[in-house]
Amino acid sequence: MALHSGRHPQDAVTERNGNPFATVANPALAQQLAPPLRALADDPVPADVAYQLVHDELLLDGRSRLNLATFVTTWMEPQAARLMAECADKNMIDKDEYPQTAEFERRCVNMLADLWHAPDPDDVVGCSTTGSSEAAMLAGMALKRRWAARQPAGSTARPNIVMGSNVQVCWEKFANYWEVEPRMAKLHGDTLHLTAQDAVALCDENTIGVVAILGSTFDGSYEPVAEIAAALDDLQERTGWDIPVHVDGASGAMIAPFLDPDLEWDFQLGRVASINTSGHKYGLVYPGVGWVLWRTRSALPKELVFDVSYLGGSMPTFALNFSRPGAEVVAQYYTFFRLGREGFRAVQQAARDVAVHLSSGIEATGQFRLITRGDQVPAFAFTTAPGVTGFDVFDVSRVLRERGWLVPAYTFPADRTDLAVLRIVVRNGFTMDLANLFLADLNRMLSYLKDRPAGMPPFPRATAFRH
Ligand SMILES: *Cc1c(COP(=O)(O)O)cnc(C)c1O
Repeated sequence: MALHSGRHPQDAVTERNGNPFATVANPALAQQLAPPLRALADDPVPADVAYQLVHDELLLDGRSRLNLATFVTTWMEPQAARLMAECADKNMIDKDEYPQTAEFERRCVNMLADLWHAPDPDDVVGCSTTGSSEAAMLAGMALKRRWAARQPAGSTARPNIVMGSNVQVCWEKFANYWEVEPRMAKLHGDTLHLTAQDAVALCDENTIGVVAILGSTFDGSYEPVAEIAAALDDLQERTGWDIPVHVDGASGAMIAPFLDPDLEWDFQLGRVASINTSGHKYGLVYPGVGWVLWRTRSALPKELVFDVSYLGGSMPTFALNFSRPGAEVVAQYYTFFRLGREGFRAVQQAARDVAVHLSSGIEATGQFRLITRGDQVPAFAFTTAPGVTGFDVFDVSRVLRERGWLVPAYTFPADRTDLAVLRIVVRNGFTMDLANLFLADLNRMLSYLKDRPAGMPPFPRATAFRH
């Protein structure tokens, strides 16, 4: 289903002009061609021409390295890019045809099981996905099946899943698509993510699981996974309800193991049944690869697993997609191989150092109040300081765009929709140097915003925000 419709202003651009550079060799410059907009053209065009016109249109996209809105990798080494180009033709599902790509996937799962302290690595099951969203669907389905298997025949009970209203949209999708009631703890006061108390208050005998986020998308803060797990232990003692925890570690599951080794959030906690991460966030790979692991085979009901042919035998797979690119999985293996523990620690520490430097510089302007500082996931949110009335976060987002900085402004979910913030995500490749250039630009723009003559029309607000 295409979600695009209607005529495009470019439909009118079919006019021909007389460009003196026009030659047969480069009809693109001669404007003899209009790119197809609504239907295939009748005839092919030379490859160079098609390349030039597609390339030129892409100039209108933002520059990904200046995109401070995204958690997703925007820089990889040339060697990684070369490997990915070499694997662009490999389909991840063809395990039999590309057994070494399948082997790299298996090794990556092993390394993640080790990194996340699986008590028995041989009992872990896991797989790559297209990202954390697919991983969330798979983990959620496993939780739902485990709950369903416990229900007496003929039961009409309805399953629910507990999370904070700051969850990433993939969990709302999971609840909607798989018909599980979403029970979302509201935010209140300075509590901008799920707490143990709020989680337990929403649980009952039909709760399939609690989702705890390591790295809230809204402000980069870690949810208290260990406290949530302990509160559920206590709940089980009181009621007998044995409610598993899934950790959505889309960003933090690749930060905490290296920078916060003493934090207990992973399979060290007996209640954590499954964990996902986005290989394409702090796993440092271009989009789209994610991972999901279950602590034990018993946490992933067998009937959800399908077998594909592999080296003359069969290999279990669990996925929503069939075909998908193998290059990202190869790139993930390359990155694990290349960096090792110490390399990952250094890269993530550099991101955290830049994030903390930036948040301090922003606080030092006196115009903003920090919601977080970038010292957990290297991402932080900030809002205008009390007493600042001449401009708001949406104005700041808008003026930063003039220099190419993409910094989204958005409001928090229920019950803190009164809180509008800007968020900056620091990724590998956003250097101290770029951070200082950003701060210089921000200070220049603040003096413009503060001195704006009264009555000047406000900047139009950004309307869309994808988190
Ligand atoms: C980004 C994110 C997701 C979605 O991940 P994708 O890899 O983009 O599908 C899910 N949960 C959290 C907490 C995230 O930050």
